[in-house]
Amino acid sequence: MAERLNLGLVAHVDAGKTTLTEQLLYVSGSIRQLGRVDEGNTQTDYLAVERSRGISVRSACTVLHWKGLQINLVDTPGHVDFLSEVERALRVLDAAILVVSAAEGVQSQTEVLWQALSALGIPTLLFVNKIDRMGADPEAVLSEIAARLSPDALPLQRVEHAGSEAAAIGDLRLPTHPGHAAWVEDLAATDEALLTAYLAQGGLSEEALHTALQEGVRARRLFPVLFGRAARGLGVEALLDAVQAYLPRAGGDPQAPPAGVVFGVEQHPTLGRVAHVRLYAGRLHNRDLVINATQGRSDKLTQIRAIHGARQVDTGLLEAGDIAALAGLPTARVGDLLGDAAAVPAGYALATPLLTVRAFPVKEEQLPQLVEAMDILSAEDPLLSAEWVPGERALHLKVTGLIQLEVYQHTLEERFQLLCRFSEPVVLYQETPTQAGIGSVAYTMPKPCWAVLRFAIEPLPRGSGVVYENAVTDNDAILPRYQAQVPKALPGSLRQGPLGWEVTDLKITLLSGESHHVHTHPLDFLVATPMAIMDGLLNCGTTLLEPMLALRLTFPAECLGRVMGLLIRARGECGAPSHRGDTVTLEAQAPVATTLTLPMQLAALTGGRAVLGSRFSHWQPCPLELGASTPYRGVNPADRARYILWARSALQA
Ligand code: GDP
Repeated sequence: MAERLNLGLVAHVDAGKTTLTEQLLYVSGSIRQLGRVDEGNTQTDYLAVERSRGISVRSACTVLHWKGLQINLVDTPGHVDFLSEVERALRVLDAAILVVSAAEGVQSQTEVLWQALSALGIPTLLFVNKIDRMGADPEAVLSEIAARLSPDALPLQRVEHAGSEAAAIGDLRLPTHPGHAAWVEDLAATDEALLTAYLAQGGLSEEALHTALQEGVRARRLFPVLFGRAARGLGVEALLDAVQAYLPRAGGDPQAPPAGVVFGVEQHPTLGRVAHVRLYAGRLHNRDLVINATQGRSDKLTQIRAIHGARQVDTGLLEAGDIAALAGLPTARVGDLLGDAAAVPAGYALATPLLTVRAFPVKEEQLPQLVEAMDILSAEDPLLSAEWVPGERALHLKVTGLIQLEVYQHTLEERFQLLCRFSEPVVLYQETPTQAGIGSVAYTMPKPCWAVLRFAIEPLPRGSGVVYENAVTDNDAILPRYQAQVPKALPGSLRQGPLGWEVTDLKITLLSGESHHVHTHPLDFLVATPMAIMDGLLNCGTTLLEPMLALRLTFPAECLGRVMGLLIRARGECGAPSHRGDTVTLEAQAPVATTLTLPMQLAALTGGRAVLGSRFSHWQPCPLELGASTPYRGVNPADRARYILWARSALQA
């Protein structure tokens, strides 16, 4: 099996990620000509133009080869507003390079990225770029890295004439050089056995050093720091050497049954939907039947497009450890698990959409196009879900944040030539039964029909979800085939409770029921279940649950009082502030409802110097007067006569 590595470049915007990517491709011989960011002709820029013409040719990754190692450079997002989203994107990486600018140093966003890499246990090299920039201070950056990222960061090089045109880098092959004793000592100090050997021999062999570095990096005990001037290609070869020497390889047994994850989806002009897949085990060939474990369906692969140089070609094979774009999975969505789902490393949790908004086409007759475009976009973006309610001239979207909406508006306009308006976003609440109770229905009129049901409903602790039990003892009263219809109708019955929100954290027990050997129509229990459940929920009463965010705010210390005031007004709870130099970090929890405009407010308060990391934390009961109910979408089963009429015609259509 080829040696390969799925590598991500992560960086604070403007650190030089695009420039470095271009140089890595150039130095390794993958591209023959260098593009320049400032002239707008890098690989990435070129692709952005293609995208805006409505065809997305963005690659799952770019491939380069260095000294026998295949390096898949995986696309990672630039903005880091939603921490769990960054984690999802980084999830398929074996290793990462974190780019820091020597002039600007460690930024709050760098810290957010670092936290995500740590949470996922991804081995990381640091690349301190722009050593030529005026004000570049490698020593200061190293202290910042030690203080704010990790004390185990270890510089492998030394910089001369920083901050000037003459900036240069000392040699990487340090171990045998005299005068680098301090460096070897540093390394030896990270490992007791090494230190003993070092003290006994008065030095370390090159081989011992190499092994120690490699083991340390792979176990995340050590984070080598390299320097460079990406704009001139300086330090790029040494960086590639370090990647090759120290970072881990993608593992995975090609003989095992296939197991993979969809981490990106794009729309190809002729192939249709194309899924970017990382395979963790097994092999896939063209025309293989692939099981989508998440969706419970199988599809036949029509093409396996891998990247050779800068081109995508049909290679017909995808092996464990590698990444490719797969055609022939028309319903694939980001986050789907393929094949043996249990063999995909865990922790691929997706963020929960917390807001709902209605989208209207500016030209009303374009609603069908909008529905179609949103279907494509929601496959590409697991954080978007679009629901079209018949009879309404709008789409209901579930989104994670306002920035996401802005992105959609642009995408709809550029890629689909659709102008679209959004309503004010509304927080997505949930509801849960307040107390235990009974729900029942006797659907025996207007004939022909016969379905009688009686349920017990009880609340469960937060996070339990929906539990269903069938406690029917009399299989003559209600035939088993009718009993089997009840759980099928439950998800639809719980999509909207009396307050209009999804119902969760409850147990539903089917106590008894009645079917009729003449009058019962095969679909009667599907019609009856939502009526009995709504009856039960009205009897129990429901409590509103609101989504809470865990926030992490970093900002200048002088703003502490005002920021805390802002959080308290937002019904937030703050932890103790932690000071580092003249910045402060605060951990807090606050409802989504009160934090929609928090990014703007923070920016105003701190003159744009705050960084906000947020992630969904939990659902919390909330008084109705602080939250909101929402009108029932569609026909409410509590409105019996209308509902029966509607359900019958819908089911028979
Ligand atoms: P990205 O936002 O991280 O992708 O950063 P870019 O690659 O677009 O670079 C941002 C700016 O920094 C551009 O104007 C680059 O020309 C410049 N830049 C990149 N690398 C260097 C470097 O090594 N030295 C200097 N002085 N400027 C650089």
